Order: sequence, then C-alpha cells, then structure tokens
Amino acid sequence: MSRDEGFDPRAKKHLGQNFLHERGVIAKIVQAIDPRPDDRIVEIGPGQGALTFPLLDRHGTITAIEFDRDLLLPLAAAARAHGELVLLNANVLDVDFTALAEGGQLRLVGNLPYNLSSPILFHALDHAAAIQDMHFMLQKEVVERMAAAPGSKVYGRLSVMLQAYCTVTPLFTVPPGAFRPAPKVDSAVVRLRPRPAGTIGIDDPRGFEAVVRAAFGQRRKTLRNALSGIADAADIAGAGLDPGARAEQLSVVDFVHLANRLHSKA
Ligand code: SAM
Repeated sequence: MSRDEGFDPRAKKHLGQNFLHERGVIAKIVQAIDPRPDDRIVEIGPGQGALTFPLLDRHGTITAIEFDRDLLLPLAAAARAHGELVLLNANVLDVDFTALAEGGQLRLVGNLPYNLSSPILFHALDHAAAIQDMHFMLQKEVVERMAAAPGSKVYGRLSVMLQAYCTVTPLFTVPPGAFRPAPKVDSAVVRLRPRPAGTIGIDDPRGFEAVVRAAFGQRRKTLRNALSGIADAADIAGAGLDPGARAEQLSVVDFVHLANRLHSKA
C-alpha cells in the first residue's frame, strides 16, 4: 500500500508494523493460499490492507483481526471496493479461534508482527483442531527454527512443538525491501497444516509441552540432567532413549514416546 492511496504511512514499531508493498510478493502469497469458495479466511494484522484487498478480490469475504484502532476506519473504508471485510479490533492472542470457527475450520493468514511470532504460533496450536491451515510471513530465522530437523543448531522447542502438531513447509523468502519500513532481517513465508486429530499420538498435551520445554531449557545438558525432577534415567531408557543424549538429538517422535511413557506412569 503506498502514500498515493491516502493512508498514513507512519508505522508503529512496537506493533511490528512493516507494511508489504511489493506486488510480486503479495501475488505469490495469495497464490500460495489459493482461496477456495467455501474457505473461511481469517487474517491476523491486516494493517493497511496489502494482503486483505487482493484476498477480498479473490475470495469476496474475509475476517481480519487488527489491534491498532488507528488503522480500522481507513481499512474498512478502502475494503468496500473489494468485498466484505469483517473487522475485529482485538489482540489476536485474546481471540478464541475455536469459537470463531463455529464448528468448522479456519484458514489463518498474515504478515505477522515479528515481536509476537512465537506467542501467536503457540496460541494457534491451542486451537489446532479449528484450523485448516496457516500461511504466515515471519522472520526467516524463525521459519528456519520452525522447520529444523534434529541435529541442527536451530532445532529446539519451537521446531518440536510445531512439527508435533503440524506439517511445516517453508515456501519462499522475502527481502527487507518488500516492506515499508524495511525490517532489518530477511523474511519468509511458511505453510502450517495441523495434523488431523487422532493422528498425533500425544496422550497428554500439557505433559508433552512440559517435557519439551524442560529438555530444551538447558540444551547443553544431557537429558538425564535437563529432565531431573520430571524423569529419571530409567524413564528415559524405558522410552528407548539414551539418558546421556541431548535434547537436540531427539526426534519429535522420541519426545512423544518419552512424554507418553511419563504420562502412563503418572
Ligand atoms: N498485513 C499488513 C501488511 O502485510 O502490510 C500489515 C502487517 S504488519 C507486519 C503486522 C500487523 O499486525 C500490523 O497491522 C499491526 O498493527 C498488527 N498487530 C500487531 N500486534 C497485534 C496483535 N496483538 N493483534 C492483532 N494485530 C496486531
């Protein structure tokens, strides 16, 4: 979106406002989302409408969640030429996606505020059953962490938690110049597809999260030490794992086995 279209171009840094303006990138994102007639698309942080308007042109109706009150009126006014925009003025972290989905499933999209990336991703995981898929623009380094495999330096809690519940597909990278103002980092678009309920195999989601958090809380330590208080060496060995191994060596399935074993003993 540019000055020519009458919007205040002053971006609020504390709200992660880096507005997309590169048409080619916007077209690629819309193409990746590929809206279908019955989809229920929910955009997080529509900003000045860079993604919203092309999505409305394709799809006709979108719900969008924007925290910044100053953006609402111009956004709603400009959206009328494109389709039906349902605007929610809220902090996305307070939005109950399960309630919003009304028994169906949502397609979440957004060029996310980078300072809130992880909280938004974890919030979405809490509502995974109500989400068909997600297409998010994030800091490239965050996308690398999300998609990392065991053994990688950036494999960690974010990788295990997201890959346990979703397939994670990095799509393409986006340079700083595609945004106004330009962020200091490269960006990337990623697709997340929640796995169907019943195929994940985690018996106790809270316990699983606690094990993953503890294991990576002190990633240089062996599992035996990092998990002390949660699991002893016999529990770890009983899950088929080496108590002397470190968290970054375990696959997502290893974590599921370990957490399920601890849950079965509880
Ligand atoms: N979609 C627009 C674009 O691509 O140009 C704006 C993207 S900008 C990176 C992030 C947007 O998220 C901003 O509009 C910002 O006001 C909004 N935002 C920031 N924190 C938010 C929150 N907690 N809940 C909802 N929206 C938020």
